[in-house]
Amino acid sequence: MPSVDIVPCGKCGAPVTWARTESDRAMPLDVDSNPFGNVVILATQRGLRAHVLKAGDPAPSVEERRMPHFATCNGKPRRWPVLTVLSAERRD
Ligand SMILES: [Zn+2]
Repeated sequence: MPSVDIVPCGKCGAPVTWARTESDRAMPLDVDSNPFGNVVILATQRGLRAHVLKAGDPAPSVEERRMPHFATCNGKPRRWPVLTVLSAERRD
């Protein structure tokens, strides 16, 4: 496994790996492999890249599969209360 930096998630504190996607966006990944993960880390000419699996890609082994951390993060900031009063106003 290529070596990657592991840092705590700023929201929930879980260890995550920040990887760059092929479109050069930063993506947090769970450190542990996940059989349902849809991301693999590939060593490319531009360095390690998070590759989101697409239909037709060769199936990676379970150990190579990673889950984007935003799919599993449980430390999401609290949402503001939804202002249902406004949407319930009659318009007629
Ligand atoms: Zn988190």
